[in-house]
Amino acid sequence: MSMDRAACAAVDRAACAALDRAACAALDRDDPLAAFREEFDLPEGVIYLDGNSLGALPKAVRSRLGDVVAREWGADLIRSWNTAGWITLPQRVGARIASIIGAGADEVIAADSTSVNLFKLVTAALAARPGRRVIVTEPGNFPTDLYILQGVRDLLGDRAELRVMEPGGLEDAIDGDTALLLLTQVHYKTGRIHDMGRLTATAQAAGALTLWDLSHSAGAIDVDLNGANADLAVGCGYKYLNGGPGAPAFLFVARRHQALLRSPLSGWMGHAAPFEFSDAYAPAPGIDRMLCGTPSILGLSALEMGVDIMARADRRAVRAKSMALGDLFIRLVEQECPGQFILRSPRDARERGSQVSFGHADGYAIMQALIDRGVIGDFRAPDVMRFGFAPLYVRHVDVFDAVATLKDIMDSGAWRGAAYQTRGAVT
Ligand SMILES: *Cc1c(COP(=O)(O)O)cnc(C)c1O
Repeated sequence: MSMDRAACAAVDRAACAALDRAACAALDRDDPLAAFREEFDLPEGVIYLDGNSLGALPKAVRSRLGDVVAREWGADLIRSWNTAGWITLPQRVGARIASIIGAGADEVIAADSTSVNLFKLVTAALAARPGRRVIVTEPGNFPTDLYILQGVRDLLGDRAELRVMEPGGLEDAIDGDTALLLLTQVHYKTGRIHDMGRLTATAQAAGALTLWDLSHSAGAIDVDLNGANADLAVGCGYKYLNGGPGAPAFLFVARRHQALLRSPLSGWMGHAAPFEFSDAYAPAPGIDRMLCGTPSILGLSALEMGVDIMARADRRAVRAKSMALGDLFIRLVEQECPGQFILRSPRDARERGSQVSFGHADGYAIMQALIDRGVIGDFRAPDVMRFGFAPLYVRHVDVFDAVATLKDIMDSGAWRGAAYQTRGAVT
C-alpha cells in the first residue's frame, strides 16, 4: 500500500503524511498514551478493534484476582467483608468511575448490569415525577434500553407511555407530560454523539428528568455529567473500562436527586442499616440506596483494575487519540477500498465516539474473514461492520495493518469462503 501522491496534494500535508506505515509508526512514537499499551495482555498476532464490545485484559487483573481468590476469599473467608473492604467496593469503584465521567465521588456506584440499572432508574424517575407518564427515547437505541422501557410500561400499565422519536423530533416530543428522556450518548451502531448539554437543558426546561446511557462513552469520549447538569446515568463496565466479560455496571444519580429517588429493587444492600436486620425497608441516605443485593466481589475486583488504568489516563489525550485513529481508519478504508463500503458513522470526529462503522451487504462474511486473519471487529445486523479504537492500546500502525488486511480480503475475494457465511450465536 503506497501513498497516492496526487491525492496527497489535494489534502492537507499532515493528514496525508499519516497515510503510510512509517508515518503511522512515527505517530505512535509521539503518542502520550503509548505506555498504557504495556498494561494490557494482548495476544500475539491480533489487532483488537473490539474494545467497544469487550475491553482487553489488564495485566493487573491476573494478580489482583489471584490475591482476591487465594488470600481474601480462600484464607480470610468471611472476615474479608471487613478486613479487605469488600463491603465498600461498589462505592470505591463507583468513585473511581466518577472521576472519568465528570461526576462527584458520592454520585456513582458500581452494581448490577446496565439493564438492571436502567430498570431501577427508569422506574425511580417515573415515581419522582408524579402526574407525568411519558418517557421519550429514540428508535434504534440499544435494544436492552428499549426492552427495559417496554417492560416498565407493561408493568405500570397506564402510568407509563413510551414516545419513540427520531433524533430530529426528540426536542419537540418533550412536553409537560414527559417524566424522562432516556438516550444513549454514543450510539452503539453508528457512534453518533448526542449533545448531552442541550438535550438535558431542553428536558429540564419542560420539568423532565434525563437518563443517559454511557455504555459507549465512559472511557471513550470526554464525558462531563455535572458540566451538562445531567440527572441520571448508567453505563457498562466491560467495554472501554476493561472490567472483563459481564463486569458489573455503574449508575449515577446527581446529588440533588438522591434523597428523592427510590429503587424499586429495594434489596437489603440498599438499606440504611443492612446489618440491623430490621423487617422494614428504609433506604440508605445517598447513592447506596441504589444497591440491591450482595455485590459481586470477583467482578468488582477485576473492574477496579480496568477503571484504575482509565482513571490515570489524561482524558483529553484519550479523546484526541480516539478521534485521530477513527479519522485515519476512514481515510485509509476509502483510499484502499474505494466505493466498496458505506460510512455509517459521522465523518466529523467531533460527532463520533471511539468507533467507526461501515455498511456492506456482505459485512458479516467480510468480518469473519478479518477475524480469521487476526483483525477483530464485530458485526451488527443488518449490515454494519463495527471497528472500535480503544485509545489505551490501539496504535496507528494497527489501524494501518487492519486496513491492509481488509484490502487484501476485498481484492482476493477471500471473504466468499464458505466458512465465513454461517453466523454464530454472538456476532
Ligand atoms: C453494551 C450496552 C448495554 C449492555 O447492557 P447489559 O445489561 O450489560 O447487557 C446497555 N446499553 C448500551 C447502550 C450498551 O451499549
